[in-house]
Amino acid sequence: MLVMGGVFATLAIGLWQLTGMIFYLYNFTIIGVSLVLGMGLWPLLPQQHKPWARRLSQLLVGGYMFFGLGMGLIYLLFGVISPENMQIEGFWFWLLGGISAASVMHYLIAKIVGPFIFNRGWCGWSCWTVALLDFLPWKKSAGRVSRRWEHLRYLHFVLGLGLVLILNCFYDYGLPQTLGMVGDLPELTFPVSRYATLWEISELWWFLGGNLAYFGVGILLAWRLRDNRAFCKYFCPVAVFLKLGSRASLVKIGADSEACTDCKVCEKHCPMDIRLTEYIQQGRRVTCSECILCLTCTSVCPQQALQVTFGGDLGTKDLVWRRSDYFPRDRATRPQKKTGPRDRGGRSLL
Ligand code: SF4
Ligand code: SF4
Ligand code: SF4
Repeated sequence: MLVMGGVFATLAIGLWQLTGMIFYLYNFTIIGVSLVLGMGLWPLLPQQHKPWARRLSQLLVGGYMFFGLGMGLIYLLFGVISPENMQIEGFWFWLLGGISAASVMHYLIAKIVGPFIFNRGWCGWSCWTVALLDFLPWKKSAGRVSRRWEHLRYLHFVLGLGLVLILNCFYDYGLPQTLGMVGDLPELTFPVSRYATLWEISELWWFLGGNLAYFGVGILLAWRLRDNRAFCKYFCPVAVFLKLGSRASLVKIGADSEACTDCKVCEKHCPMDIRLTEYIQQGRRVTCSECILCLTCTSVCPQQALQVTFGGDLGTKDLVWRRSDYFPRDRATRPQKKTGPRDRGGRSLL
């Protein structure tokens, strides 16, 4: 928590002094304070209320990113409105435009380089999409559906990038157009005062449209599969970036294998269906690139055998539970009463 606070304080003051833009001071202070509040609350709350610490952080960081940056409210402090598309398409537009603005910085820090250090902490503590989805009632997963479903996120990733490239290359629709800008990109300076009105900034509509689609698909998948995190497991294109660094992350869940009694309580509560006990038995940290560092497993372990650890290792194959592991696909051998999604204890989730 202290390290996190220090990193954000350094970013806030360092970038402000370096660039002269007070936006950085506001931006990184708000994010840093939100994370420190959530992480500070975590050890203070009793076990059953610990998820609220994480949700607080999600709501504060995610809410700031959504309303402050995406909807442009933070820029009101500077007397102008300049919403920035924080969705992955916005990142591509800014990257292709050759300008390192909030979305590029956000993707680099939280989603591309950051996971090599702090794993998928973004997914556990900050993402605005799951800040909403985590409130749905299907908190315990019955395991993942077939591996083919997971390919959907790669398809989504390629389609998003492809759309931006086609618009850029063939329709002359790039960053200036998404910003509703008059003039050339090299003239872009902050605060952005050359954009007329909110309604002329298609960046805002890209952001709202993208989020509406994410929330819609996320809720539909969660309802259909009885799993709040179904969107993260099968459809989120950002996970393609996050998974790269998380395999090599310095921060991972580690276990004291001597203390572990193989009760599997941690696995039953893991929202990402990770086979924790297999990692423990192999004497490894949880190198699975699906771990979102939500700390649920550490809080439910009756032996306190799990904790956040620092170290150097590399994950290879992800070990996760699938529904087929509990219920054989062959209908002839499937026990009749075990139809429908169930938790790992065999209880129906319907
Ligand atoms: S996988 Fe995507 S939707 Fe899920 S928490 Fe991570 S960034 Fe958010
Ligand atoms: S909950 Fe704790 S004791 Fe039980 S299997 Fe997990 S790590 Fe081991
Ligand atoms: S392994 Fe633990 S920290 Fe990782 S996703 Fe599962 S419950 Fe969360």
